Amino acid sequence: LAEGKGVAVLEFFFPEALELDKSLLELAGHIGSQLARVAERRRAEETRQASEERIRAVIDTAGDAFVGMDAAGLVTEWNREAEAIFGWARHEAVGRPMADLVVPEDLRTAQRAGLQRFLDSGEAAILDRRLELRALHREGREFPVEVTVWATRIGSTYGFNAFVRDISERKRLEAELIRQALHDPLTNLPNRSLLLDRLAHALARAQRNGAPVTVLFLDLDRFKTVNDSLGHTAGDRLLAAVGRRLADSVRPSDTVARLGGDEFAVLLEDTPTGAALDVARRLEEALESPFSIDGHQVFARASIGVATGEGGKQTADELLRNADLAMYMAKGRETTRHASFEPGMHTAVLERLEMEADLRRALQAGEFFLHYQPVVRLADASVVGMEALIRWKRGGDVVSPAVFIPVAEETGLIVAIGQWVVSEACRQAAAWQREHALQPPLRLSVNLSARQLQDPGLVPDVEQVLNACGLDPNCLVIEITESLLMSDPDVAVQRLRHLKDLGVRLAIDDFGTGYSSLSYLRRFPVDVLKIDRSFVAALGAGPEDAALAHAIVKLGHTLKLNIVAEGIETPEQLSELRSLGCEYGQGYLFAAPLGVDAVAALLADRRTMR
Ligand code: C2E
Ligand code: MG
Ligand code: MG
Repeated sequence: LAEGKGVAVLEFFFPEALELDKSLLELAGHIGSQLARVAERRRAEETRQASEERIRAVIDTAGDAFVGMDAAGLVTEWNREAEAIFGWARHEAVGRPMADLVVPEDLRTAQRAGLQRFLDSGEAAILDRRLELRALHREGREFPVEVTVWATRIGSTYGFNAFVRDISERKRLEAELIRQALHDPLTNLPNRSLLLDRLAHALARAQRNGAPVTVLFLDLDRFKTVNDSLGHTAGDRLLAAVGRRLADSVRPSDTVARLGGDEFAVLLEDTPTGAALDVARRLEEALESPFSIDGHQVFARASIGVATGEGGKQTADELLRNADLAMYMAKGRETTRHASFEPGMHTAVLERLEMEADLRRALQAGEFFLHYQPVVRLADASVVGMEALIRWKRGGDVVSPAVFIPVAEETGLIVAIGQWVVSEACRQAAAWQREHALQPPLRLSVNLSARQLQDPGLVPDVEQVLNACGLDPNCLVIEITESLLMSDPDVAVQRLRHLKDLGVRLAIDDFGTGYSSLSYLRRFPVDVLKIDRSFVAALGAGPEDAALAHAIVKLGHTLKLNIVAEGIETPEQLSELRSLGCEYGQGYLFAAPLGVDAVAALLADRRTMR
């Protein structure tokens, strides 16, 4: 019917209508088309309804919240997602002021003013753009949203609609990504980028207010040996634990960063140089007690470089590099482990780098040689042994081991150098033994570094050398400094036991300068204690000073150890040591370290230093 088939229909129902005259037919046609128009309107209405339902369904199932309000600011639209993200049901929201429901209180005035401005002047600040705003949840918490608002106009009345998306999760991920980019995953500390950024800001502030900015650069000593001996997982744990201790030792406003590897840095703002050195000492102290890693006691001391900058004088990079240089200079130091940057350090570091390079060639070039210092029995000054002391002929100079051994330790060259010392000294001792038919046999002392004790090849090497030169293992004394034993007691104890098993004797060198407790001392299978020079030098100064040397001698005797006093220079020191019951000694009073020829002459002659 709707398609204007009025005549055909009439024919069907009223066949006799064919008989009807034309005017009637026209009328019928007219009725038919009227019917068709009505049907069309209904169909249009149905289509409109269907499409509205479709739109509503789309809006309702949309991932975004869809909200609408009228020009008075009252809610007109509120879909399911809007219910979810704002916490208000549709029937609660519709008809109430939009601002009261979703706009945080501090933004409401601005929101109202914006709406009014638009209604008055058509000036649209927020329409048709994607905006990030704060929104309010029914429970009062605020959350970030992304909003697109557009205005509709029917006649002269405005309405506003918006899609709103909760972007809390995206924001959280963004923040996390930024955090990750600026932090070290292992320690959770700021990384180099963040440190440099904060440093640059601090320097900019310093330029305005004149306050100093200080950077401490820390590098762990011998971290590599931890990694090598306990594995990387243990190494990682140690780094994380070190990071925590460092962070706990400074103010929350200071930045502790991990630069990479075993390097850390601390940024101190507004701290005068003196106070910065206090912080350096505090950090040293914080790292003094051992860490417990996988059931091992591990020491992780650090060398610290301190550099203070003023705004406008240097960049963040330069300041960090200065602190790094100062750290490098601190590395070799024995007592304090920190150093402040001085401009002369650039050349000093260059010299040190040159020394490293030369040291690498020295072994091949045969530039090392040994001096031997007699060890005597104090009662009659007879020579009972020799301590082998290394020397380096570098160009025209002879370099002291006190200068190059720390560098050799740093670079790991000490392992190869130490091997050479052991084999050269043993070869020499065996030769003297044969040539002079020494009775009792001469004891030969060799100094060993921490790094060598960490080397798994040490014990087989020593064994091989002893066999090759035919030296009685009991004639070899290996000297280890006390601080070395303490740096990794577990590995040390094990290695020393294996050396003992070869029949070698063990001595603790420079005793009294390290940190060893008596209980530790008992764990090490040592035979000899060497009293450090400083205690001997103090002898004769007053009764308290003698008391220390006296205590060490008594301790040694209680533990059934031989005692050797180092650095005896005066007859007074000698007689005092004798009266304390110390049996052995060495020092300039008897002989300085001697060349091979001088030793041979001494042995051939009478073997006593009187
Ligand atoms: P050390 O083992 O304690 O050696 C004693 C040092 O004191 C030697 O210095 C010696 O020359 C010096 N000395 C001896 N008698 C006196 C004295 O009466 N007065 C004074 N003021 N000093 C005296 P040197 O030869 O310069 O050695 C320094 C340190 O270098 C040694 O201390 C030792 O720790 C280390 N060292 C020497 N040779 C080697 C080596 O072959 N390997 C390793 N790893 N370290 C070595
Ligand atoms: Mg020694
Ligand atoms: Mg010594």
